[in-house]
Amino acid sequence: MSTSPRSDVEGRVAALLSDLLPGGRIGSLVAGEVVAGTGARLDLVNPADGRVFAGFQDAGPPVVEAAMAAARDGQRAWWSMSAAARGRAMWAVAALVRRHAEALAELETLSAGKPIRDTRGEVAKVAEMFEYYAGWCDKLHGEVIPVPTSHLNYTRAEPFGTVVQITPWNAPVFTAGWQIAPAICAGNAVVLKPSELTPLTSLALGVLCDRAEGMPRGLVSVLAGAGPTTGAAAVAHPDTRLVVFVGSAEAGAQIAAAAARNIVPSVLELGGKSANIVFADADLGRALVGAQAAIFGGAGQSCVAGSRLLVHRSIHAEFVARLAHAAERIPVGLPTDPATQIGPINNRRQRDKIEGMVEAASAAGATVAAGGGCPAALRDSGGFYFGPTVLDGVAPDAAIAREEVFGPVLAVLPFDGEEEAVALANATPYGLAGAVWTGDVGRAHRVAAAVRAGTFWVNGYKTINVASPFGGFGRSGFGRSSGREALMAYTQTKSVWVETAAQPGVAFGYVG
Ligand code: NAD
Repeated sequence: MSTSPRSDVEGRVAALLSDLLPGGRIGSLVAGEVVAGTGARLDLVNPADGRVFAGFQDAGPPVVEAAMAAARDGQRAWWSMSAAARGRAMWAVAALVRRHAEALAELETLSAGKPIRDTRGEVAKVAEMFEYYAGWCDKLHGEVIPVPTSHLNYTRAEPFGTVVQITPWNAPVFTAGWQIAPAICAGNAVVLKPSELTPLTSLALGVLCDRAEGMPRGLVSVLAGAGPTTGAAAVAHPDTRLVVFVGSAEAGAQIAAAAARNIVPSVLELGGKSANIVFADADLGRALVGAQAAIFGGAGQSCVAGSRLLVHRSIHAEFVARLAHAAERIPVGLPTDPATQIGPINNRRQRDKIEGMVEAASAAGATVAAGGGCPAALRDSGGFYFGPTVLDGVAPDAAIAREEVFGPVLAVLPFDGEEEAVALANATPYGLAGAVWTGDVGRAHRVAAAVRAGTFWVNGYKTINVASPFGGFGRSGFGRSSGREALMAYTQTKSVWVETAAQPGVAFGYVG
C-alpha cells in the first residue's frame, strides 16, 4: 500500500465525488447505485502532474448484464409516461446540471486536464442540450401519409429500446450530455461507456439523470471500464438495439462491425483533419485569432480541430510569422488556473504520440515555426504538457498533413488559387469540419459547397449549437448528433395501416 501523502488533487477529487456520487465511490452506475466492477483495477492519472489520484475496477460482463436489465425496466417505464412528463423530467435533469455546474466543471478540469475556462462552457452546453431536447419530447411524432381512401396510413416515431453509447476522453461530460439527451428524448434507455481514462464526470452526470424528478430508475446507466472488456460486452449484448460511438476511426470500425454482426445499426462520430483556408482578401486579424482557436482550443484534442492551415501564398510568410508570434504567447499551464488557455495533454500515450509525430514531421523537412515540445517552465511538472506548435513548409503528402494528431500541432500549407485550396482541403479521407476566411461572399459559398465536410464555417471556427446537426462525411463517420437530425438517428419509424373501406380489401381463404 502506498504511504505517500494524498496530493491536493486526490483530496479535492474525493471531496467532489462525495458530493456527486452515492458514497463518493467510483464504480459503475446501475439502477441508481454505484457498483464495483469485477475486472482489473484501472488507475486514473492527473494529466497536470502524471500522478495516480484515484482508481476503480473495470466493470466487466456481470455489471454490463445488470445495466442492461436496468435499462430494459427503465425504458419500459419511460416510454409508458406521457411525452409531456418526459419533457418535464428532462428539464429537471438540466436544472440539476446547472445546480452542480461548478462541481462538474472542476471535476472535469482535475481529472481530464482541461482548462477550467473551457469546462465551465462545456457543462453549460450539457444543460442546454437537456433543455433543448426537453422541448422536443412532445413535438416528436409521426405523420399521416396520403394513401388511397380505402386506408388510413400513419407513422409512429418509436425508440430503439436500449442504446449503447461509447465515448472518448477529450470532452467527457460534454460528449456524454450531447448523446444522452437526444437518446432519451426519443424514448430510449442509455447504457453509456465513457473512456476508462476519464469516467468521473460521465458517472456524475448519470447520477444527476437518475436523481432528477420524474426520471425512472435505470434509464441511464454508466459503465466504468475499458473498451475491449466492458465496451465490447455492451456492444455485443443481445438487448442492444443501437450503438453510438464517438472516438477513433480504428475503434469505430471494430465496434460498427461487432454491432453489425447482431444486425444492430450504429452511428459513428470519428476524427478529422480539418482544413482552415485563409484567402488574401480576408480580415487577417480575425483569421489570425480564428486559426489559433481552431487548432489550439482544448490543446488540439478536439475532433474538429483546424489542424491544416491552407494560406494563400501571397500572405503566407507574413501570416505564419504573426501566427507563430501569437502561439508562443498563449498561456500554457495548470488547468485549474482561470488564465490558462492550454492545459496538459490528457494522457501520457497521447503526449508521446504528438511528440513522435512532430519529430517525424521535422525529419521529413517541416520547419518548426513555434513550439515543438513541452514549454521549458513546465518540464519539471511531471504533467503531459505540449506547447502550441506551428509547422511550416509541410509537403501535402507528408504524414503530418494527412493524419490526425489530436494535439496542438498545426500543419501549414500554401496555395495559389481557389481550386487548389479546395483540392488540398479535400485531399483527406476525413470530412468532419473546415472553414474559409475571405471577404468575397461568392467565394465563401463556393468553397463551403465544394469542401467535403459535415460542418463548415465562414469567417469563423468551432461555433456549434444544440439546435444544429453535427457529424462527419467520409472517414469522419455517419449519422448526426444534436439538432432535430439526432432524433432521426435515435428513432425508428413504424408504418401503421388501418383499413377504412366498407368492403374488406383482403380477399383470400375461407370464411368459417
Ligand atoms: P478511442 O477510439 O481509442 O476510444 C474511444 C472509446 O472507445 C473509449 O471509451 C474506449 O474505451 C472505447 N473502445 C475502444 N475499443 C473498443 C472496443 N473494441 N469495443 C468497445 N469499446 C471500445 O478514442 P480516444 O483515444 O478515446 O479518443 C480520441 C479519438 O476520438 C480521436 O480520433 C478523435 O478525433 C475522436 N473524437 C471524435 C469526435 C466526433 O464527434 N467526431 C469527438 C471527440 C473525439
